[in-house]
Amino acid sequence: MKVIDRLKKAKSTLFSFEILPPLKGKSIQSIYDSIDPLLDFSPSFINVTYHREEYIFKKREGGFLERIPVRKRPGTVGICAAIINKYKIDTVPHLICGGFTKEETENALIDLQFLGIDNVLALRGDAVKSESAFVPEPGGNEHALDLVKQIVLMNHGKYLNEEVEDLSKHSSYCIGVAGYPEKHFECPNMKADLKHLKAKVDAGAEYVVTQLFYNNDKYFEYLESVKQLGIHVPVIPGIKPITSKKQLLSLPKFFHVDIPEGLAEAVEKCENDNEAKEVGIEWTIAQCKELIKHGAPCIHFYTMGRSESVRKIAKAVF
Ligand code: FAD
Repeated sequence: MKVIDRLKKAKSTLFSFEILPPLKGKSIQSIYDSIDPLLDFSPSFINVTYHREEYIFKKREGGFLERIPVRKRPGTVGICAAIINKYKIDTVPHLICGGFTKEETENALIDLQFLGIDNVLALRGDAVKSESAFVPEPGGNEHALDLVKQIVLMNHGKYLNEEVEDLSKHSSYCIGVAGYPEKHFECPNMKADLKHLKAKVDAGAEYVVTQLFYNNDKYFEYLESVKQLGIHVPVIPGIKPITSKKQLLSLPKFFHVDIPEGLAEAVEKCENDNEAKEVGIEWTIAQCKELIKHGAPCIHFYTMGRSESVRKIAKAVF
């Protein structure tokens, strides 16, 4: 079922979560082990992230360094299909612009269609780690907006170089996109970022999932601004409980989000990560209760493959 249909049918706040493919060489069992503890809460859908190539340098004869692309977490499409097959739960593969030509994107979408997957989260992706800014693939999509447009064209039977006459055979993807309650870090200001969000929705995105945040007021303000701009699709809050002390530094660095003073001080006082995890759980439970009270359509948890904290939170709020 499409995410948008689930959201429309829902009588209360839904529960969904996101997982990462395992590192190359690891078994899919780790994925099942992270899903099993969360089945009690009837997840409406499970997102599977996509990880583009990174570059490693290998020393060759004569001291030359060869730049070699390596994908550390391949398997997004296979994992989505395996989850549907094993659990009969809808999956949402993340599809990114980075590293893909439009033709490769089209082929990936055709694979998904044949696997019975009719949801995608359309993203640009970040810059390759060794580069300072995002560079699209030659012949690839530059912004998530371009990817949304390509998927919408396919939904109308318009492939890159041909059109399909029989419309019963074309794809029908429900497209989600990313939104940033604390602004995307590259964008000069919130107004411009919201304008770019509106363009994605106007092009055919049916819902938004937010970047993680720890201060609900930022999400509520974002909802207000989104509505004022005339964006009327569901905006699903993305939530990630703090699970270690070092995340006080890594979360702002990697996700460009603020950690509220109260939370930061409580985590700093912890003697070890187990205590920090408990603080993270308590904070997230309070966050979720407030989000549900305000009628959030769904709460989407970034589990990062670790479901222990999310299980405790879900038990307290769903
Ligand atoms: P865009 O919507 O293209 O926006 C990127 C930047 O460009 C923004 O600053 C925007 O304001 C600006 N912009 C947009 N359009 C224009 C325009 N026409 N002109 C000028 N500027 C413009 N990354 C992964 O690699 N894999 C994942 O699986 C993944 N999953 C994610 C899931 C969620 C819910 C979120 C919130 C993020 C995820 N990311 C993932 C990270 C995401 O790829 C990065 O945040 C990326 O930097 C931006 O992606 P986007 O889709 O928001 O891009």
